[in-house]
Amino acid sequence: MSSEHNAFESMLEEFSGAARLLGLDPGLWKILTHPKRQIIVSCPVMMDNGQIEVFTGYRVQFNITLGPAKGGIRYHPDVNLDEVTALAAWMTWKCAIAGIPFGGGKGGIICDPTTMSARELEALTRRYVAEIADAIGPDKDVPAPDVNTNAQTMAWIMDTYSMRMGTTCTAVVTGKPIEMGGSQGRREATGRGVMITTREAAKHVGLDINGATVAVQGFGNVGSVSADLLTKIGAKVVAVTDWKGGVRNADGLDITALLAWTDQHRTVAGFPGGEAFDRDTIFELDVDILVPAALENQLTAKNHHLVKAKIVAEGANGPTTPEAHQALFQRGVFVIPDILANAGGVTTSYFEWVQDRHGYFWEEGEVNRRLEHKMVEAFNTVLETAQKYDTDMRTAAYIVAINKVATVTRLRGMYA
Ligand code: GLU
Repeated sequence: MSSEHNAFESMLEEFSGAARLLGLDPGLWKILTHPKRQIIVSCPVMMDNGQIEVFTGYRVQFNITLGPAKGGIRYHPDVNLDEVTALAAWMTWKCAIAGIPFGGGKGGIICDPTTMSARELEALTRRYVAEIADAIGPDKDVPAPDVNTNAQTMAWIMDTYSMRMGTTCTAVVTGKPIEMGGSQGRREATGRGVMITTREAAKHVGLDINGATVAVQGFGNVGSVSADLLTKIGAKVVAVTDWKGGVRNADGLDITALLAWTDQHRTVAGFPGGEAFDRDTIFELDVDILVPAALENQLTAKNHHLVKAKIVAEGANGPTTPEAHQALFQRGVFVIPDILANAGGVTTSYFEWVQDRHGYFWEEGEVNRRLEHKMVEAFNTVLETAQKYDTDMRTAAYIVAINKVATVTRLRGMYA
């Protein structure tokens, strides 16, 4: 694997650029680039065919200086320890930028959920939670959904943990179904944050969002809600791709109809409201805004020169390699970095955790109003930092985050 495609190496490269500008103390530099704890577990599961399979799972708590570790759990065949560690580091910086009292964590299980039954997924989830139960908890580490996990997965996690504790413990996990302690607006929150930061970025670069054209890579939770909410503020989503194919329509795709289609067919491919196109060409399209909302390493040395958009809003974590990012910045493309653009999810996760702990639940308008406030504030802080240091938005976001975590590390001092 080339270093360009190692997520943890990418994270370190991004971190170093910012730490250098900040003149970060070498000791703090070492602390902030080492994961606090990495857990690897084996999860035996009785499969539907009567055979036993053993799945490898990870949970990494990268840094817990600002509060309990926070971050999702993903189910994917390509999950590995380096990736989970990078994702946990990104959560650390994301929470610091969002101004929420959490550290960063992430989990993952190597599996292919598309080939597994609901019962197998439930058994795997419960066994994984049993294996990491001592390390998680409302004050320790609070998981959430990520790639291929959802509210149902969170319900199983909450139940498994609660059964072990002998008490119903809703705040151990966020992104739960609303009926059992989930928050209004959580499902849409990451996409809502992408919409808000894209809207603010458009204002900044002088692009009228009304009629601005958008291409979205990935139509899962993040991509689909981003597309829907960007449409609702007047943008025109002209192309969408997912794991199976792509669909485009120069007049703008009917996102409501596309959502109904994907509900039924689990893919955008074949949608009759547009024409099919090669999904690998999504970043080359002549659009104003690109929203990569799939996986890491999508904008790379191979394709960054083909980008025509003025704004890239990173709905996914780590979609742009450092090399591609540098080239885009040099060419004047305004990249809203992942740790800012997709921070809406974890911000509303924080609201969910607060509501669970109070046992008092807010209306959707209240949740969205608070999210709007936090996202705009975070965007402006990062933008002002970028201007102050004369740098790009990603480096500025790291500067904000590193500054916060380093300050608290210094204040807390060294234990033993
Ligand atoms: N998985 C989401 C992320 O990458 C949300 C994490 C959370 O809500 O804890 O930001």
